Amino acid sequence: MRQNTGLVYLTEEVRNRPNLKISGEVLVDRVLFEQRRAVGVVTASGAEIAAGEVILSGGSYGSPAILLRSGVGPAADLAELGISVVADLPVGQRLQDQPFYYNAYALKSDALAMRPAVGALLWRQSSEARGDELDMHVAVTHLLPPEYSPTGGAIVLSTAVVKPDSRGTLTLRSRDPRDQPEIDCNYLATDRDARRMLEGVKLTRRLGRYPALAQFVELEILPGDGVGDDQLADVIASNLASYGHPTATAPMGGPQDPWAVVDSHGAVKGIDGLRVVDASIMPVVPSVALNPTTIMIAERIAKAVYSQEQRGSIEAPEPSAPTTARGDAQ
Ligand SMILES: Cc1cc2nc3c(=O)[nH]c(=O)nc-3n(C[C@H](O)[C@H](O)[C@H](O)COP(=O)(O)OP(=O)(O)OC[C@H]3O[C@@H](n4cnc5c(N)ncnc54)[C@H](O)[C@@H]3O)c2cc1C
Repeated sequence: MRQNTGLVYLTEEVRNRPNLKISGEVLVDRVLFEQRRAVGVVTASGAEIAAGEVILSGGSYGSPAILLRSGVGPAADLAELGISVVADLPVGQRLQDQPFYYNAYALKSDALAMRPAVGALLWRQSSEARGDELDMHVAVTHLLPPEYSPTGGAIVLSTAVVKPDSRGTLTLRSRDPRDQPEIDCNYLATDRDARRMLEGVKLTRRLGRYPALAQFVELEILPGDGVGDDQLADVIASNLASYGHPTATAPMGGPQDPWAVVDSHGAVKGIDGLRVVDASIMPVVPSVALNPTTIMIAERIAKAVYSQEQRGSIEAPEPSAPTTARGDAQ
């Protein structure tokens, strides 16, 4: 069974902890501040939740939107919406997601019983890969509704540029938390990204026409058997999708990094009591699927920050215990 963090971390035992309260279906509007210290959050319905420390885990689109509504973001953008600036930081300015293109194939009618090969992944370097980066995925998916195929069944060989150079933006349309933010992924904005995507789709087409696979394939639905190489770039550009791996809208970085919003423990720069812990703090999109990476970041920050604090309070009495006392006890 496919698991998620809610199932595996919020076990019955954890849910029964007296110091844990879970409130579902609550939309967070913004963080409450006293000067530059976060002291809680306000929900969309106006309820205030006080907190000693606030940790945002709203994802690469949710967390930056909360930060911006709270006054943490580019000062000029905030001023336009009449939001008072708490910290002038480049929130939402380095969005990175991986462009994704579906090569779709209608299956022959005698191959409809074929089960999808979920989990097959070709992970490789494009001809323009830098160093040892694995910048291209070709993945087999069953993500195409059968009604899109004239034969009633289809397979998809998808291509993704997983180390893109292009950077997008996330900005607010309004102060209303129910308004979705404006997301511009800015895919294939650099020539190198566009060339690598084209190379990937050409490779994927070759795979689709390879005899071992072609024997099951009736026709290429996308890009389409009639689409020649000279039209391919335009067809890709107008049919791009997302791999669903947005990152870097509140990127982590050192004190000299002009794009950094949080430090290596997710603490928002220049503000006390506020952390962001989710995929938004990855400074560069990794060339893997992001769920394990996000969980790893959360575990690492939890261990580094909170177990240290806990250890501190548990171990605090020890240094003051005189060695002679131990000797006496013996
Ligand atoms: C279609 C799809 C398929 C994917 N498949 C895979 C895969 O197979 N393997 C893999 O490793 N990764 C996969 N990913 C990527 C992975 O799901 C994400 O990278 C990962 O979930 C990021 O975790 P997160 O905690 O940053 O954000 P999320 O998991 O998005 O969690 C953020 C949560 O915050 C909530 N939220 C946002 N704003 C607010 C607000 N204002 N108030 C209250 N709550 C709020 C959201 O509703 C959401 O529940 C997939 C993504 C998509 C979209």
